[in-house]
Amino acid sequence: MISSWFLFFYLVSGVCFILALKGLSSPLTAAKGNVFGIAGMAIAIVTTLLIPEGSVFLRYAFVLLAIMGGGLIGAKIARDIPMTALPQLVAGFHSLVGMAAVLVAITSLIEPQIFGIGVVGGINTSSLFEMAFGAVIGAITFSGSLIAFGKLQGLITGKPLRFTLQHKLNATLAALILALICFFVIFESYTAFFIFVILAFALGFLLILPIGGADMPVVISMLNSYSGFAAVGIGFTLGNTLLIITGALVGVSGAILSYIMCKAMNRSIFNVILGGVNIGGADASKDKKDDDKAVKIGSPEDAAFIMENAEKVIIVPGYGMAVAGAQHALFDMANALKAKGVEVKYAIHPVAGRMPGHMNVLLAEANIPYEDVFELDAINGEFATADVAYVIGANDVTNPLAKTDEKSPIFGMPILEVGKAKTVFFVKRSMATGYSGVENPLFFADNTIMLFGDAKKVTEEIVKDMENS
Ligand code: NDP
Repeated sequence: MISSWFLFFYLVSGVCFILALKGLSSPLTAAKGNVFGIAGMAIAIVTTLLIPEGSVFLRYAFVLLAIMGGGLIGAKIARDIPMTALPQLVAGFHSLVGMAAVLVAITSLIEPQIFGIGVVGGINTSSLFEMAFGAVIGAITFSGSLIAFGKLQGLITGKPLRFTLQHKLNATLAALILALICFFVIFESYTAFFIFVILAFALGFLLILPIGGADMPVVISMLNSYSGFAAVGIGFTLGNTLLIITGALVGVSGAILSYIMCKAMNRSIFNVILGGVNIGGADASKDKKDDDKAVKIGSPEDAAFIMENAEKVIIVPGYGMAVAGAQHALFDMANALKAKGVEVKYAIHPVAGRMPGHMNVLLAEANIPYEDVFELDAINGEFATADVAYVIGANDVTNPLAKTDEKSPIFGMPILEVGKAKTVFFVKRSMATGYSGVENPLFFADNTIMLFGDAKKVTEEIVKDMENS
């Protein structure tokens, strides 16, 4: 039995995690939130190591060795990973949480006495249920996260992969899993356990495969939520209060984030959870190339001239800005424009980049003032009064087909209405499509000028030109 002192410190650590979440909800308090998170985790680890359970060897030598090994690998990955690959890293890490839940469930089934939940053939009914819950959610999280990783890393096509009877197959698998869980809880059947775990792995694959294009952000936050609930399952099996609290915090905050993202993307959360039921067309508008159409190509000098003579410029950053690391150059460009009396604002789409808040983090890193940065709803009405929309490495988030082409995978997603500005500059390296693979008809619009090149280099040249003029 864990003493009340240890439970008290677990509670302190849980409160730290809640304060961390609260802090992370605003860029102004995010650093403080991180400090609370680190403190909470430090208290949690030290408290757990001090609990006098099991042999000293297991508690210190083995656990510390595992923490050091995992810590070193984690530190190396975190150091080497480019900022733009964070979403697939997060997906990869979620898969580990899912697998951990499955492994804990298997271990507690084989050696229930270690966890104090009964003996083989006589495990407590509630523990059997918790084990089944943790294992199923864990298995779905593991395989679903692997698919999400593959899609984000470009190892699997980002296209929604659909086949006939897919949803019926998913529903049948879910019903089978439920039936097997009941059989397992009643008869403590190992066979039923391993069959529903395998079916849950299959269900995870099938649920994420049909999701693609612009819906991947919702999938990432949804898998984040699943990984939290898998941890809750492990927490109940291990009788660990802190794991239950932390898992619930991750699960519920991930679910709330998924809901917010779904609302921002004009999607139904149930459709996404159920594996892309009724989500816009698979790939009908993909690869539709307007090779014959002409585009206007401009130079950094043209852009500098037009922007210097503008009254209002709205900057729209996207994934390409992150790839190029152009945020500091943008800061310089905005300052040069402000010095010439031009009003400068930034417009952020909720799914710009490759992770929630991606653009906000990068702009904050470059010390761009928060009061210049506006969310979609707050800024969309202003494009009609802007002289210039400077779209830097953004594509899908401006694509008007999201409003008009029902077959497009981005159909229904709200967009930044950059086309309404007097002049639109698209800074990108080629005519390539964005993440969803849908060509952007705005490139061919009369008021659009393409600025081909790396986002950072083009922006730096514009700044140089402004300084020399
Ligand atoms: P997009 O992926 O639509 O477009 C990015 C554009 O950047 C590309 O067209 C590319 O064109 C250009 N680019 C890439 N590198 C550079 C560079 N070095 N310099 C200049 N341009 C560059 O990005 P958006 O931000 O508009 O949209 C995000 C998309 O990602 C949405 O579909 C969203 O659903 C999806 N997504 C978002 C996630 C999130 O949580 N925010 C997570 C997962 C997916 P070119 O190659 O021609 O340069």
